[in-house]
Amino acid sequence: MSVSFQLTEEQESLQQLAHEFARDVIRPAAPHHDETGEYPHEVLKQAHEYGLMNTHIGEDNDGLGLGALDGILIAEELAWGCTGIGTAMEANGLAQQPVILGGSPELRAKYLTPMMENYSLCAYAVTEPGAGSDVQALKTTAVKKGDKWILNGNKMWITNAGVADWFFVVALTDPDKKARGGMTAFIVEAGWAGVTVNKKEINMGQRASDTRAITFEDVEVPDANVVGKVGDGWKLAMAAFDYTRPAVASAAVGLARAAMEHAAKYATERKTFGKPIVAHQSIAFMLAEMKMNIEAGRLLCWNAAWKKDAGLRNTMESSIAKAFCADMAMKISTDAVQVFGGYGYSKEYPVEKLMRDAKIFQIYEGTSQIQRLIIGREMFSRR
Ligand SMILES: Cc1cc2nc3c(=O)[nH]c(=O)nc-3n(C[C@H](O)[C@H](O)[C@H](O)COP(=O)(O)OP(=O)(O)OC[C@H]3O[C@@H](n4cnc5c(N)ncnc54)[C@H](O)[C@@H]3O)c2cc1C
Repeated sequence: MSVSFQLTEEQESLQQLAHEFARDVIRPAAPHHDETGEYPHEVLKQAHEYGLMNTHIGEDNDGLGLGALDGILIAEELAWGCTGIGTAMEANGLAQQPVILGGSPELRAKYLTPMMENYSLCAYAVTEPGAGSDVQALKTTAVKKGDKWILNGNKMWITNAGVADWFFVVALTDPDKKARGGMTAFIVEAGWAGVTVNKKEINMGQRASDTRAITFEDVEVPDANVVGKVGDGWKLAMAAFDYTRPAVASAAVGLARAAMEHAAKYATERKTFGKPIVAHQSIAFMLAEMKMNIEAGRLLCWNAAWKKDAGLRNTMESSIAKAFCADMAMKISTDAVQVFGGYGYSKEYPVEKLMRDAKIFQIYEGTSQIQRLIIGREMFSRR
């Protein structure tokens, strides 16, 4: 396949649609949801109507079946609007992806098809209080009893937990084997007996999204709700990241772009020592660094997504994009606050929110340290 940076007409339309939605619907709503932490249902319902949610669900489940590159174009624009609202929307994709990859036709018809018809939410529930970076340390168990599994354990930091109808859950089914066939994935409905969703966490940033712990106490899960085969849990949970990490990285690019635009505008308006601050070389260079890094980050995202769409292994490229763009968004949003001076530190101006929102990109879907571990492992295992 030849390399081209030329988007198709369809991709340009998608990008335009997502941009207009971010400008006209997400941005006006963002301050309220950041301030109150109220879940942005009204924004997400409109996004669902516009076809901007659940974009990777396949045509056999009444979805659009968009590719990885299509998805990241949308993710960047939504995040340019507000990454809290973007994360709330994209969390559906993270929970759905392993089901798209490994779910039986019956399971996909039961849980994915209705999500195309009606607005509803789901959540990816893998992390536990003692198992974040070290997913293999998870303790949730599922024990087979007749045609059911009995699920017990605690999940932590689950995005959309308080608003989801179902969870993608990974549990130990053979504790001795752990990641080597000892973990199994299940779809667990939020309304089932024994499922308790705990209080909403009060987070530093991305406050429009909903993060909670979940407790499972003797929850009866039908055998039909196993995703893929028994023992496939680890594989499916990790395979999803090859699709979602380029999207998370693109969201970081969208945030950085917003920060750069605010900083560039302010730099032409604010005057010190008789001239606009952009005329001071140290400010102009800071803006130039922002531009360089945003362009570089976007290309890493496109490369990671392009590889997935081309059917190539993209685990390393996904981690490179995620690590680079998360660190870049943190740096650029911090520098944007610097360009604003004292005003940047105030909630009256847009960049303090961006700096708070940026931090989570270095933590969720694998921290910046874990991405580097993956890159190192992939570099040497590929030789
Ligand atoms: C807002 C939010 C939303 C989230 N959403 C979800 C979700 O929807 N679903 C889900 O399953 N999880 C979710 N998470 C969990 C997230 O993925 C984890 O928090 C993350 O993977 C880090 O795990 P931890 O918090 O346990 O930190 P730890 O694993 O305890 O790490 C602590 C520190 O040690 C570093 N570290 C750990 N191990 C190593 C190592 N081997 N080498 C070098 N450094 C290391 C880490 O990088 C980090 O800096 C979310 C978290 C947050 C905060």
